[in-house]
Amino acid sequence: MAFVQRDSVSVFVGLGANLGEARHALETAVKAIDQLPHTRVLQCSSFYRSAPVDATGPDYINAVIHLETRLNAYEALKAFQSFENLAGRERPYRNAPRTLDIDILLFGDASIQSPVLTVPHPRMRARAFVLKPLSELLPGWVTPQDLQSVQSQAIEKLDASRSDDL
Ligand code: ADP
Ligand code: MG
Repeated sequence: MAFVQRDSVSVFVGLGANLGEARHALETAVKAIDQLPHTRVLQCSSFYRSAPVDATGPDYINAVIHLETRLNAYEALKAFQSFENLAGRERPYRNAPRTLDIDILLFGDASIQSPVLTVPHPRMRARAFVLKPLSELLPGWVTPQDLQSVQSQAIEKLDASRSDDL
């Protein structure tokens, strides 16, 4: 059977952590994702600090990255979950604090509803910690109404100088 060369797809990924060295975990994840086969990180948003939504625990550090990849969505999900596990991710209960969370927000124009993957991410329009960083990278996608609807969620943009070593 002939090898079919897939086109690369433009992907937006949300990163979050609120246990351990959260900022370092995000920086490590960005580097690891950039080193995946057939994958390159094109942009990383500012880092943000946000209060947990529907959960208790420490504040989160969040960011969104834009990458291009020839991996398919399931290959990408598997790789991201392996990075979560390497970062010591445990899942004692739903929305538990976490050392690293990597969520696929948009995968090209794919619409996926499977038992392990829903894309676009079903809760992304309801979360300030996704919409704020995503609006830096994809301003046309995030509307003023979207931002208005999450304005009660506590979030602050962090000082850029600390992520210079990305
Ligand atoms: P959370 O929903 O709080 O991010 P987890 O990171 O533990 O929780 O993910 C739970 C499950 O969500 C994963 O096992 C994965 O199969 C599934 N999932 C469904 N859609 C997505 C997506 N777009 N990105 C990442 N994981 C997803
Ligand atoms: Mg997740």
